[in-house]
Amino acid sequence: MNILVINCGSSSLKFQVIDAETEKLLAKGLCERIGMDGASITYENKVENTGKEVNETPMPDHKQAVSLVLNALTNEKTGVLKSLDEIGAVGHRIVHGGEKFTSSAVITDEVVEAIKEVSDLAPLHNPANLIGIDACKALMPGTPMVAVFDTAFHQTMPEKAYMYALPLSYYRDYKVRRYGFHGTSHSYVSKKAAEIVGKPYDSLKTIVCHLGNGASVSAVCCGKCVDTSMGLTPLEGLIMGTRSGDLDPAIIEFIAGKENKTAAEVVSVLNKKSGVFALSDELSSDFRDLEEGYENNHYAKLAIDAFCYRVAKYIGSYTAAMNGVDVIAFTAGIGENSGFVRGKIMEYLGYLGIKINAEENGKRDDVLKISTDDSKVQVYSIATNEELAIARETYALTK
Ligand code: AMP
Repeated sequence: MNILVINCGSSSLKFQVIDAETEKLLAKGLCERIGMDGASITYENKVENTGKEVNETPMPDHKQAVSLVLNALTNEKTGVLKSLDEIGAVGHRIVHGGEKFTSSAVITDEVVEAIKEVSDLAPLHNPANLIGIDACKALMPGTPMVAVFDTAFHQTMPEKAYMYALPLSYYRDYKVRRYGFHGTSHSYVSKKAAEIVGKPYDSLKTIVCHLGNGASVSAVCCGKCVDTSMGLTPLEGLIMGTRSGDLDPAIIEFIAGKENKTAAEVVSVLNKKSGVFALSDELSSDFRDLEEGYENNHYAKLAIDAFCYRVAKYIGSYTAAMNGVDVIAFTAGIGENSGFVRGKIMEYLGYLGIKINAEENGKRDDVLKISTDDSKVQVYSIATNEELAIARETYALTK
């Protein structure tokens, strides 16, 4: 059964088609600049590996984008499907499931309503995700659809980890609490880590470091997420590409006063103009550029050093939270590709009895063991695959 995986943003739509039985990727692509000038669709047939095909074409809305995706998938020459009947189900990535969704759900009218209800917790993401659902429903009316939530994996966090020390009415009235994100990735990588070390998932203490443009750490104890670094929104926790991560909340009022800005404007700076981008004196949010500047540019070095220090502090606190750690797994763009950053983080972790194999750490592979055999904690780089995880969930609920 083929699963179409859709990840819909406000002006973009990423898609993959995965054969759920063989877990083979059949096609993938991306619609960009939806609703803007210069919209384009990138399509790759992965069966024949014909390479990327990019077409600039008008895309006034997401329905048109989904329609173009379906045309590309069934195109006589380059398509991987004979007809849309070959799509058994659609899996949608949904950013925020609030407290309502502790796992994936088959999309019904009630589920759509529930996603709408928590949209104020993710005003940039959930509405875009819902547009994707609507567009697919209009063009593939009989095909079952599943919502896979970024927050669901973290719903096992205990109260002491998810509550903010704020007036309880904020939680009771507005559901202000920590939710965590990247859950699909944390779940996939922690399970894969258990598979790789050959131990039952529910017997391990694992720390997953999802280090991409957005970055978060999670503590997975005995098969359950017990803590994660992102909060009510993805702004909390690690220093990220352009997000500040943890800071003193009083800074918001302070800067608002100094620069005559609203709270919303300052929060926008914290989301879009901060992080390693800001610390590197706006050199870049991309770690490839920062690594290049590390030796000669003070601020590129500062950005990387501060980023690694924050990750190491989270690893330390999650080791304490779980009273130990068996496996540390690095994933996502930086975690999978940068031996340099992994090495810098690991320099802080000698106290855990971690020993690193520098040669292996310099390599890049989907699964890389970077600790030595006598290291007290096993450390891996594991490629995440959120689309495959979404396809698996979708298949499990619709087969
Ligand atoms: P993601 O959000 O998971 O797609 O990660 C994107 C980020 O990964 C980019 O912004 C880069 O900072 C980082 N990245 C990708 N490739 C490399 C690389 N070869 N070395 C260092 N960082 C990388």
